Amino acid sequence: MSIDINVMIAEKIKCMTESATIRMAQKSRDLAAKGVDVISLSLGEPDFDTPDFIKDAAYDGLKKGYTKYTPVPGLVELRKAITEKLLKENHLKYTTDQIVVSNGAKQSIANICMSIINPGDEVIIFAPYWVSYFEIVKFNEGIPVVISGDISRDFKVTSAQVEAAITDKTRLIIYSSPCNPTGSVFTKEELTAIAEVIKKHNNIVVISDEIYEHINFTGDHFSIAQVEGMQDITAIVNGFSKAFAMTGWRLGYMAGPTWLASACNKVQGQITSGAASFSQYAAAVALRADQDEMSTMVTAFKKRRDLVIQLLREIPGVKVNVPTGAFYVFPDISHYFGKSNGNITINDADDFCEMLLSEAHVGSVSGVAFGDPNCFRISYAASEDNIRKAISNIKRVLEDFK
Ligand code: PMP
Ligand code: GLU
Repeated sequence: MSIDINVMIAEKIKCMTESATIRMAQKSRDLAAKGVDVISLSLGEPDFDTPDFIKDAAYDGLKKGYTKYTPVPGLVELRKAITEKLLKENHLKYTTDQIVVSNGAKQSIANICMSIINPGDEVIIFAPYWVSYFEIVKFNEGIPVVISGDISRDFKVTSAQVEAAITDKTRLIIYSSPCNPTGSVFTKEELTAIAEVIKKHNNIVVISDEIYEHINFTGDHFSIAQVEGMQDITAIVNGFSKAFAMTGWRLGYMAGPTWLASACNKVQGQITSGAASFSQYAAAVALRADQDEMSTMVTAFKKRRDLVIQLLREIPGVKVNVPTGAFYVFPDISHYFGKSNGNITINDADDFCEMLLSEAHVGSVSGVAFGDPNCFRISYAASEDNIRKAISNIKRVLEDFK
């Protein structure tokens, strides 16, 4: 008896690209396990620990018996807390049956895509995009239609580009703001202009990924769902990983029209049965708490953003804009393409990041995975010491590339 992996593995999985963020983080870990002093700036994960009051709430939940299945779309108490948050912070009114809590925002996005995409449907993705959007769309046999913003416009697409990309087959539009990987934040005016274009068409839903909502240095978060008429055709995706430093708790949610929440609920009922009960219990406490502890993290991220930009600007040939949110910078390093240190030649951003890992011992992620082959992503969710050391190493190794 034998197994031919080529026959066994589904075509959809063969066509799927491994997540570049996760792959690069693992490569950094593997190198560190060999005793190399690696600084990983590859994974978008706060270096802060989950605040103690949230951990205490989880212990409390466990003791109170939150150890069983919850309703598939989430504990009613948590969904209530989410509707309160959406009303208070985003001025949007939702009912609990319009919320579906999932195992991370990643699963919320997958649920929505599974609920909407039929084979051949077009999905407009704003580039640079978060790596998983493209693969989730492909997995559901949708056709990704990528429109790009470049560094001169802070990587933001325009309403005219959206207009030109929409066809009768468009069913979804996906973007994040604040954006992973660029840190750009769309303004109210920019999103309103995009919304006006979308509203002229039927049968299109927007996935507005707002997971970095609270890591916003401009202070103003605006959701496209706030534009008149948009709430009914927008699925807001948000979660606890970033603002509350809860990546390992695997908790995110969608808020959208009831028909879409019901479809996501149905998908989730067959695939995961919902998120972990004590994570949910603690998340309700997190949402209802005073957000002071979280604002301390945001202040630290802003300080690091300034430091990273200042240090990167000292490296010849590295072009960088000033991101206004999230914890990423996305420098253009195309100046180095075709250059060699006599041993290694950098042909593209993939080579650039491999070289940084092997020579500078710094983990990062190539822009190719985010739909911009001229750039690479640095996550500055790391200590100031590590940021200084990493960028100094990068500068030193690049000096040899002529
Ligand atoms: N959206 C964006 C833009 C992200 O960067 C991430 C990264 N984790 C997610 C969604 C998924 O977050 P999680 O599944 O941890 O909630
Ligand atoms: N979202 C984070 C990142 O972009 C975590 C890894 C992932 O889920 O892709 O690095």
